[in-house]
Amino acid sequence: MDILWILWTLPSVLAIEEMLMDSTTATAELGWTVYPVSATGDSSISWEEVSGYDENMNTIRTYQVCNVFRPNQNNWVRTKYIQRKGAQRIHVEMKFSVRDCSSIPGVPGSCKETFNLFYYESESDRATKDFPSWMENPWIKVDTIAADESFSQVDLGGRVMKINTEVRSFGPISHKGFYLAFQDYGGCMSLIAVRVFYRKCPRTIRNGALFQETHSGAESTSLVLARGECIPNAEEVDVPIKLYCNGDGEWMVPIGRCMCKAGHEAVENGTVCRACPSGFFKTAQGDEKCLQCPINSRTTNNGATNCVCRNGYYRTDSDPLEMPCTTVPSAPQNVISSVNETSLMLEWNPPRETGGRDDVVYNIICKSCGGGRGGCTRCGDNVQFIPRQLGLTETRVFISDLLAHTQYTFEVQAVNGVSDQSPYSPQYASVNITTNQAAPSTVSIMHQVSRTIDSITLSWSQPDQPNGVILDYELQYYEKDQTEHNSSIIKSQTNTAVIRGLKPGGIYVFQVRARTVAGFGRYSGKMYFQTMTEEEYNTSIQEKLPLIIGSAAAGLVFLIAVVVIIIVCNRRGFERADSEYTDKLQHYTSGHMSPGMKIYIDPFTYEDPNEAVREFAKEIDISCVKIEQVIGAGEFGEVCSGNLKLPGKREMFVAIKTLKSGYTEKQRRDFLSEASIMGQFDHPNVIHLEGVVTKSSPVMIITEFMENGSLDSFLRQNDGQFTVIQLVGMLRGIASGMKYLADMNYVHRDLAARNILVNSNLVCKVSDFGLSRFLEDDTSDPTYTSALGGKIPIRWTAPEAIQYRKFTSASDVWSYGIVMWEVMSYGERPYWDMTNQDVINAIEQDYRLPPPMDCPSALHQLMLDCWQKDRNNRPKFSQIVNNLDKMIRNPNSLKAMTPLSSGVHLPLLDRSVPDFSSFNTVDDWLDAIKMGQYKDNFANGNFTSFDLVSQMTMEDILRVGVTLAGHQKKILNSVQMMRAQMNQIQSVEV
Ligand code: AMP
Repeated sequence: MDILWILWTLPSVLAIEEMLMDSTTATAELGWTVYPVSATGDSSISWEEVSGYDENMNTIRTYQVCNVFRPNQNNWVRTKYIQRKGAQRIHVEMKFSVRDCSSIPGVPGSCKETFNLFYYESESDRATKDFPSWMENPWIKVDTIAADESFSQVDLGGRVMKINTEVRSFGPISHKGFYLAFQDYGGCMSLIAVRVFYRKCPRTIRNGALFQETHSGAESTSLVLARGECIPNAEEVDVPIKLYCNGDGEWMVPIGRCMCKAGHEAVENGTVCRACPSGFFKTAQGDEKCLQCPINSRTTNNGATNCVCRNGYYRTDSDPLEMPCTTVPSAPQNVISSVNETSLMLEWNPPRETGGRDDVVYNIICKSCGGGRGGCTRCGDNVQFIPRQLGLTETRVFISDLLAHTQYTFEVQAVNGVSDQSPYSPQYASVNITTNQAAPSTVSIMHQVSRTIDSITLSWSQPDQPNGVILDYELQYYEKDQTEHNSSIIKSQTNTAVIRGLKPGGIYVFQVRARTVAGFGRYSGKMYFQTMTEEEYNTSIQEKLPLIIGSAAAGLVFLIAVVVIIIVCNRRGFERADSEYTDKLQHYTSGHMSPGMKIYIDPFTYEDPNEAVREFAKEIDISCVKIEQVIGAGEFGEVCSGNLKLPGKREMFVAIKTLKSGYTEKQRRDFLSEASIMGQFDHPNVIHLEGVVTKSSPVMIITEFMENGSLDSFLRQNDGQFTVIQLVGMLRGIASGMKYLADMNYVHRDLAARNILVNSNLVCKVSDFGLSRFLEDDTSDPTYTSALGGKIPIRWTAPEAIQYRKFTSASDVWSYGIVMWEVMSYGERPYWDMTNQDVINAIEQDYRLPPPMDCPSALHQLMLDCWQKDRNNRPKFSQIVNNLDKMIRNPNSLKAMTPLSSGVHLPLLDRSVPDFSSFNTVDDWLDAIKMGQYKDNFANGNFTSFDLVSQMTMEDILRVGVTLAGHQKKILNSVQMMRAQMNQIQSVEV
């Protein structure tokens, strides 16, 4: 029998009834077994198979019985063997009609209107006409079936009948199959149709999961568990995913759930997770539908989990994916400026296009233009912006502390949350303004440099805001007991002045003010200074007397030299005359300086040098300093590295010079004098002072940390490792730092590679401003030779400074030439092992150092210029900086290596490549050229004789294992020199 699907709608799932037997589909006789049969067997006395019609007039096979007038009826009809097919519970639907006993005239009381339904399980079809026995046991009774409606009359065709339908079920059953039997015990009825089936829960998709077809259980109340699997592109939300199949073939009690994953939406009643189509997206797992891409975004494929922004449009990390992509704002509009002296109010309108966002803010870029250099440069940190410079939410800003009478360009940038993603700079509107003239701010510090019986020398700092070029200063003074009406006024073009014609022991009130083209600034506060009394004056004369007499003899020679120089200078039209203070108060020689320029003040000119420390060095609390390790030995104590954490500032790595315990007051003063000098400088190529610790012990000087230490040892450790441009870059830095110091009128006196420090970026900075090593009683360091009036580093010092202590920026230039030579020879000792006296003699005879190996001739020429005998012919540091800049811009100028012969300067014998013939072995020769570390390499390569070594090529040098390019060059150079020396010897011998 074919399976017939009978479906009826359950709350959400359709149950399946699978047919095991259906009498209505029989096309031939049913042929069921009946009992009892007549003795002849040809006519029925029990159930009888009869053809009939159903309500639709289809031919059907029926069984009828109607023995109501005979007593003790027991009529059975048994179906054929029905296969169980895995069912556990069987349902039997019976359609039948029953005659109403009361409608049959003369019927006895035994007339029945019911029949019984039985079943019998069997592993095989083994029933016979006697087996199983026609009785309740072995059969199992399912129920007594009664008609809901009986009928009273049957027409001739038997068609007008009341048809009853009853369904009964039984189970569990476990054998392979079974028989059904219908027992009549005295009724008049017709069994029209029998259908036998079992129920299944169908394959279904519930809660996003697929459940396979499941047989219902053995009892009508049993629930059969089925596990589900998520449908494609769905993922579990709650696990486990279960459904129960009940006895009626209905799914119930769903547990757990799957949902369509991101990029997929549920369609077809939740049975399919479909990829979002092009132009749609879904960000997360869930029941939601795919959404259309927001404006300015698109998808690149189906199943998109987000939409990417079109070119030129962006999202911030916090923008929801449902939000349209946005772009950068257009420029602010209508910027208006109103200048008031050195301040300015800027106002503007918001940009026309906000880029689709509401987080537009404004940044102000300040550039000062036309500062003589052409072009514009970013303004410094001192310019003030209120409320702030960046991230302005309002469309106005107040800008102050600009320089007076200066052109500025202000760019008002509009930026929003996505500006930093755009490859283009923010759009801006700009205004050009020129600040007005403004008078300089007040001079805040004035101090006494020296005094005599009738004069006082004062010095003061430049106003914080000069607001233009300071033309001069005006000093007003009067005796303390007088009033301002009696004051005198003197003018000074520098920040110092000598006030003469004062009364001995007089106390005077001083006030100073600066002047620019915009006029005078305000007077400083009143300060009081006193001249020496007669008594003080006499004592000071007595103290100085021995010194004056002691240096008289030397002074005579010195005086003659000075007179000669002055005459020579005047004859050349050289205007600068050395003032009376040249030696001690360098800063008072101001003839060549621009007015108002900041100059260096010698801390030893202060009556109390501690005053200079207080003025120029910031006091640091020891709690801010953390010493880490000792990195070197200074003259006064250890030099350490450590950390400095000033309140409100970031922690920084610093060098800490300490003063060892047990110092004298003089040592303390000398030690701290370096800080008072350093503290006056502010330049990227001059070591920067962070501050001093003087209120606790040990006393410390704290400076920026220079990772690579001093330049001479740094170069020696990295012999041959830099390009010429890198070396020239270092030299340029040193020259720039020296130009700054020279402009401040500071003479270093000890410029040498050992006094240059190098940081991790190869930036070189001038350091060592200590003066103590020049003092005569210090004999520990042989570099400094005692000379008249102090100790002098002979090899680095210009002849006029050695001979008559003429230390000037021009003598610093000489030393700079020596530093150039040290740098280009990677830390070689100037004049090698010559004695100091030999060096002095050689220089006197116009011998000069030869170019170091691989030194471009342009650089050696610059060294020779620095070593001009006449100091006026030496270049200024500004010219050296320019010269080096040109070389850096045009590296071809550094290619030429032939030593230039100036004719005037006789180069010393090139001692950098020693004569091989003065050595006995190759090892000694390697030591002499400072390549001793390759002795084993040469021996292993069999280069053991000068003959063999002189034939070496670059390949040989590489083969023996010299891998550093600088060392290869050095050895090859020395080998070539050896060959040249051998040829010379041979030609002499010939
Ligand atoms: P000085 O007393 O200045 O000659 O310092 C002695 C040594 O300490 C120098 O040769 C350097 O090796 C080291 N040194 C001094 N100052 C610093 C610094 N700022 N950074 C790093 N090392 C330094």
